Amino acid sequence: MTDTSPAPFTEQDYAARMYRAAREAALVGLSGLLVTPGPDLVWMCGYRPPAVTEHLTLLVLAADSEPYLLVPALERGDAQAAPGAGAVRITAWQDGQDAYAAAAGLLRAHGRYGVSDGTWAVHLLGLQAALPLSSYRPLSTALPLLRAVKDERELARLTAAGAAADAAYADLLGVRFAGRREREVADVLARLLRDHGHERVEFTVVGSGPNGADPHHMAGDRRIEDGDMVVLDFGGLKDGYGSDTTRTVHVGEPTVEERAVHEVVRAAQQAAFEAVKPGVPCQEIDRAARAVITDAGYGAYFTHRTGHGIGVSTHEPPYLVEGEHSPLAPGMCFSIEPGVYLPGRFGVRVEDIVSCGQDGGRRLNTTSRELAVVG
Ligand code: ZN
Ligand code: ZN
Ligand code: ZN
Repeated sequence: MTDTSPAPFTEQDYAARMYRAAREAALVGLSGLLVTPGPDLVWMCGYRPPAVTEHLTLLVLAADSEPYLLVPALERGDAQAAPGAGAVRITAWQDGQDAYAAAAGLLRAHGRYGVSDGTWAVHLLGLQAALPLSSYRPLSTALPLLRAVKDERELARLTAAGAAADAAYADLLGVRFAGRREREVADVLARLLRDHGHERVEFTVVGSGPNGADPHHMAGDRRIEDGDMVVLDFGGLKDGYGSDTTRTVHVGEPTVEERAVHEVVRAAQQAAFEAVKPGVPCQEIDRAARAVITDAGYGAYFTHRTGHGIGVSTHEPPYLVEGEHSPLAPGMCFSIEPGVYLPGRFGVRVEDIVSCGQDGGRRLNTTSRELAVVG
């Protein structure tokens, strides 16, 4: 099957995103937004610097001014090649010059700014030293849902990324698990994600047997054995948008208990999926999954939130967690990934990316959620 890349976003698309971001910043009382390399910058103007370094790169957005992108002079050419470059005014600072003084020239002395979460401390401290009366809030606190609602073209990319991850999983079911180390299976999984069009692999969790009971386990040297449950959680970026899916498989015939635990998690994932509707608070999706697992007696073993948003990054707001009252809205995309983790024994997690439509959820991962038996 041939895979064609989607048409790139245009200068107008980026201009509209930056305009909206600056306006929303003003509405919450900010002088503007300071965006540094990472998902925010990619989303706003399509620019990913060749490397993220101690050299300051800063996009300055304010409702009363055009967007400025301050870059190291050596990277001016890279910035000019970004698809959204035409929508920003690029200005460069020279090596040896004080980058923070250059940035201060674009900012207000008493400004209150929202700043990208991933901004290096050295940059934020440099800005604060240059403008001692300015103040800052993390963008995820100031405007948590800025990137949460996806437009049609973003949804198409997320759908394609999900399908590619699903294709990788389908291929993986045919490989041998028994006798191999987790790391080896993780390597195969990474290769399959790339084969199916991911330009970036972000994580390939292979949690076999007791390792599966640790939700943060990645992949280690443990040799997978016949009788193991294996949690497979993997994703990355395809055409700039994220995938993230989990299936739990079993090596050989599962026991009655293993099947039962898997079925509880699958049912919880289904219940949470069915709860998706515009206007429903995020925490209700978490509650729907948790109710099923608690009723089955495993509530104490579901030790993490039910899901997270996804877009140009694989983990972002909204978070589906108790206490998150933000209502779901059409176009939001997020994971639904309940799990049960039995310490020292095994874990089960089932995860799909789901988009919120007008009438309910749509799964962007469509592989079988039944417990697959592998060799
Ligand atoms: Zn087993
Ligand atoms: Zn995941
Ligand atoms: Zn996830």
